[in-house]
Amino acid sequence: MTASSDTNALAIAIVGVGKIARDQHIPALARDPRFQLAATASRSGGVQGVETFETLGALLAARPDIPAVSLCMPPVPRFAAAREAIAAGRHVMLEKPPGASLAEVFRLEALARQAGVTLFASWHSRAAAGVAPAREWLAGRRPKRIRIDWKEDVRKWHPGQAWIWEPGGLGVFDPGINALSILTEICPVPLHLTASTLTFPENRATPIAADLTFTDGDGLDATAGFDWRQEGGDIWQMEIDTDAGQLRLLDGGARLFIDGQETTLDDTGEYPTLYRQFGQLIAEGRSDVDAAPLIHVADAFMLGRHLRGDPFHD
Ligand code: NAP
Repeated sequence: MTASSDTNALAIAIVGVGKIARDQHIPALARDPRFQLAATASRSGGVQGVETFETLGALLAARPDIPAVSLCMPPVPRFAAAREAIAAGRHVMLEKPPGASLAEVFRLEALARQAGVTLFASWHSRAAAGVAPAREWLAGRRPKRIRIDWKEDVRKWHPGQAWIWEPGGLGVFDPGINALSILTEICPVPLHLTASTLTFPENRATPIAADLTFTDGDGLDATAGFDWRQEGGDIWQMEIDTDAGQLRLLDGGARLFIDGQETTLDDTGEYPTLYRQFGQLIAEGRSDVDAAPLIHVADAFMLGRHLRGDPFHD
């Protein structure tokens, strides 16, 4: 682990050293001179060369010099950790989804406000290279049809992860919420969900597939299909027909096509962008907590027609 040597760097701790912490957070922090990874709280060993605590409580008590924590564990245990860190006066970055329920997220937002600390509910897909240009292009246009396909092989992306199949783990909405985070960022008109069909493996508590329908209340045809049974290549794409041309985002927002023509993008990386945003929010004394993607997921469960599918085994 090569930590930043900048003495002005903000000390930060990572809590939950698993797949996303190792794949993205730790490399992004190692390259960011604004932050220094100063400690971890990890039940499984942490990061070599960085002080590790068994619990967040022990870390907070021993290291009052660390003003920020990044919570990289699954959603269900995240509320308790975020609450503990906020109560200890630390700035908190949340992995997506920001909570296992909406009430948790709103509570954390209020607690952070009362404590005068920054809370950043991060949505990594919003930092994909094509998303900001897509939002700019769509502003002022009127969408007529939106089609989202977010299909991947669960065995490839979540091998052996039990929590995704437990209540609060979201099932196929764990990746699907990334699409919804992009949609809610770029769509120039507000949408609400009108129908959903959720397919649950008969031995699991969360859905393996979901079909969603949205409206703007004004004739817009918007649908999404999320599926974890995809074989072959992953499909993470969004197509938006408007009154003045067509936009397509491919590869989870990394590639942007306007009227069939690919756009050259400036790609600084999703997680480097998230940490730049977190640093900015802290510097400006602000929070950024947008629950809009999670609201659509909650609505999909509330309005969902539940189907039973084949059992799923890892
Ligand atoms: P993971 O590897 O299964 O778990 C992350 C780590 O969290 C674990 O290694 C463990 O760290 C800690 N943890 C697990 N269960 C816990 C519990 N009950 N209480 C406290 N800590 C616990 O999960 P992940 O794939 O990294 O996903 C974590 C979050 O990142 C999810 O919300 C997911 O949606 C999001 N995310 C994941 C990906 C991805 O590609 N996997 C991409 C983007 C976002 P220690 O052993 O160090 O305690």
